[in-house]
Amino acid sequence: MSEIIIKTPDNLEALIECLVCANENTGLISGGTDFVIQLSQRKRYRGTIIDLSRINDLKYVKEDKDVIRIGSGTTLTDISENKLIKKYLPSLSQAAGQVGSTQIRNRGTIAGNIGNASPCADTIPPLMSVGASLKIVSGEGKIYEKTIDEVVIGSGRNNLKFDEAIVEIVFPKLSNDYISAFAKLGTRKAVTISKINAAVALKYSPKEKLIEDAKVYLGALGPKSFRSEIVEEALNNKIPSKELLKYFSKALTKQVDISIAGRSSQVYKREAIKGIGHDIFYKLFGNVVPGGDS
Ligand SMILES: Cc1cc2nc3c(=O)[nH]c(=O)nc-3n(C[C@H](O)[C@H](O)[C@H](O)COP(=O)(O)OP(=O)(O)OC[C@H]3O[C@@H](n4cnc5c(N)ncnc54)[C@H](O)[C@@H]3O)c2cc1C
Repeated sequence: MSEIIIKTPDNLEALIECLVCANENTGLISGGTDFVIQLSQRKRYRGTIIDLSRINDLKYVKEDKDVIRIGSGTTLTDISENKLIKKYLPSLSQAAGQVGSTQIRNRGTIAGNIGNASPCADTIPPLMSVGASLKIVSGEGKIYEKTIDEVVIGSGRNNLKFDEAIVEIVFPKLSNDYISAFAKLGTRKAVTISKINAAVALKYSPKEKLIEDAKVYLGALGPKSFRSEIVEEALNNKIPSKELLKYFSKALTKQVDISIAGRSSQVYKREAIKGIGHDIFYKLFGNVVPGGDS
C-alpha cells in the first residue's frame, strides 16, 4: 500500500532536521503547482514530503551591499511586484509576472520554478543572464552556493541531492548602465507556458549609445536554458537602430535553426523568435528607437 508522510517545518532549523532523515523517497514541495501535478500523475506516490510553504523566513527580497537576495519561498507574484527586482533585474520581474495565471503566480515560488527545471521555466533565463547563484542547505546543516547553471542540468533535472534544499537565490546588483528584458511566446493567452522565452541583460550607455557586454539566454530550445553567443555578438558594440533590430532577429533565427535543426517545431519557432526579439528590443530601446508597436 502506498503511504505519504507530510512534514511541515516552520523554520530553517526544523527544515534541516527534516533533511537529516531524507532519503531517495523524500520530496520537497513549496507552492505545489508543479509537484501536485506530478503527484496526481503518480510520478511520486510514496515516501516523505517536506512542505516548505510554512517557513516564513524563506519569503523575502532584500538588498545587500553588492547583491539582491531572494528567499526561496517568495512567490512569483511578490517577485513580479518587488521594487528592488524591478530596479536591478527588470527581466526577472517581467518573467515572474508572465508565469501561468494569477492563481499560479500567487502560489508558485521561485525555488519551485528552478527546482522543477523545465526547459521553458520563465525565471531561469533572466537569472542565468546575470550569473545568479543558489544558496543550498543540506541535511548536515551545511550551507553552500552553486550557480543556477550548475544546479539546473537538463529537462526536469537538477543535481540537488535528496537531503538538499534551495533556501536563497542571489544575484549581483548591476550598475545603472545595465538594462535587461524578458519576453516569451506561449500557446494560450491566459495560461501561457512558454513555447520559447528569452532574457537579455546588457550594458548600454545612452551617452555613447553603444551596447556592450550583452548576455542572451534562450529557453525551450533545448533541455535547459542556454547562452547564445551568436545573438550576443549581433548586439555587442552596436548602436540601437531599426537596422540593428533586423540583425538581432536574424541572429535569433540562426540560433533556432542551429538548436533545433530538423525538428517539427523549427518552422514555427524560427518565425516566433522574431516576435520575441521585437518585444525585447523595444523593452530595452523603445525610448531611443521609436516605433515599437509597428
Ligand atoms: C496551469 C499552469 C501554468 C503554468 N505556467 C507556467 C509558466 O508560464 N511559466 C513557468 O515557468 N512555469 C509555469 N508553470 C509551472 C509552475 O507553476 C512553476 O514552475 C512554479 O514556479 C513552481 O513553483 P512551486 O512553488 O509551485 O513548485 P512546487 O510544485 O512546490 O515544486 C516544483 C519542483 O521544485 C522542487 N522544489 C520546490 N521547492 C524547492 C526548494 N526550496 N529547493 C529545491 N527544490 C525545490 C520540488 O521538489 C519540485 O520538484 C505552470 C504550472 C501550471 C500548473
